Amino acid sequence: MARRSSRQMVQSKSATESKSHILEKGVSAAVNGIKAVVNASKAEVNERKNPKRKATHTEPHVDGEDLDSIDPTEDKEREEEGDQLQGTKKPAAKRRKTASKKDAENNMPLAARTAITSLKRAMYIGAHVSGAGGVQNAIQNASNIGANAFALFLKSQRKWVSPPLADECKTQFHAMLKQHSYDSRKHILPHGSYLVNLAQADAEKATQAYDSFLDDLQRCEALGITLYNFHPGSTGGASMESACARIAAQLNRAHKATESVVTLLENMCGSGNVVGSRFEDLRDIIALVDDKSRVGVCLDTCHAFAAGYDLRSPEAFAETMAEFDRVVGTEYLRALHLNDSKAPFGSHRDLHANIGTGFLGLRAFHNIMNHEALQGLPMVLETPIDEKGPDGKTVENKQIWADEIKLLESLIGMDVESDGFREKEEALQAKGATERQKIQEQVDKKAEKDAKKEAKGKKKSKKKKDEDTCDSCSEND
Ligand SMILES: [Zn+2]
Repeated sequence: MARRSSRQMVQSKSATESKSHILEKGVSAAVNGIKAVVNASKAEVNERKNPKRKATHTEPHVDGEDLDSIDPTEDKEREEEGDQLQGTKKPAAKRRKTASKKDAENNMPLAARTAITSLKRAMYIGAHVSGAGGVQNAIQNASNIGANAFALFLKSQRKWVSPPLADECKTQFHAMLKQHSYDSRKHILPHGSYLVNLAQADAEKATQAYDSFLDDLQRCEALGITLYNFHPGSTGGASMESACARIAAQLNRAHKATESVVTLLENMCGSGNVVGSRFEDLRDIIALVDDKSRVGVCLDTCHAFAAGYDLRSPEAFAETMAEFDRVVGTEYLRALHLNDSKAPFGSHRDLHANIGTGFLGLRAFHNIMNHEALQGLPMVLETPIDEKGPDGKTVENKQIWADEIKLLESLIGMDVESDGFREKEEALQAKGATERQKIQEQVDKKAEKDAKKEAKGKKKSKKKKDEDTCDSCSEND
């Protein structure tokens, strides 16, 4: 177990509460499981009602928005942030009410921050928090969940054009940074817009994407933030090689137009047109970036696993890290997104699960938390926190993040053979069992369908002659 700092002792009430909350969670797993099933079946109904959206689950959006990678939680947050940052269609009174309710929630500390010096390894763990009402609010939100690192959106994720960063927000951001002593050069990791696709081949759309991207980088510099994470993009049907070249060219332009911000490519999990599912894509982009000190990688554990990079056993984890080093280079690894996966290994589906409840499981995170080379990097949870409130409405339960941060910190130096670890591992796996089974069935069904399609195609092509090679190979590659 992690040793506790004196600061934590003083504030230990909320910490203890959060600890007991973790235990309670095991007990209430069955209840939550049922809730999850209800939510999941609702989502399925919605998917069926909206086949267009479902279609995008395998193919990225034409504008580069890989809808597959969008977590419903993020979706909601993005809309909220959009409304509040952009001026909104909501009536003013309602807006005020929402804002004041939000303010109250924002000021609720759910867990104390763990002093990094009290940990056996310097792991800076946090979550992607909301910056609704102004980027400065993200700092309080991060502090409230006991985060030592955090991510945020710098502007609305729904719109191409946003009002400039207000001086007041900037001043408050710097003041809050000081007050909460976060190092903006190391442990704050803004997330890029999902609308932006730097691989865009269409000249007009490429300009739109670049302008929005550059605007984000300029916001980073105004806020004193060094790291910036974004999804590489989509080929749009063009070759992977040309897509990587376009991304690198845009990065070179953006680096010249700014001074210090380091752009981090996120590894992805989709197949086909998605850029970044293979470490080789990341390598090929980096190879074409002129200033290597301005580019790096943010490794998303869920994406890596779903893309076919195993992290579960110590051996598999070591092999994946070794492969990253061989292909990309460990020196480029600058940040992590910590997410478990609701979808099985190599399924190419992007479904974030709460830590320990997914197919990755607690052992994968034990491997990560005890890997020396990852010390000092920002590690950001993007796990689901939506729950059904007493009135049946979906509400965000930020206590989940507060607990996950403490859980991850507790894995540092923990013995995986200990009863404490095994009990936690079992309880969390039980909690996610229904959801894992559901997604496994979906994946199996799709594989069956694909196999049938492939068999049919083979028959046809055999009739034709043997001139065509199997086209599903490129999909699985
Ligand atoms: Zn991510």
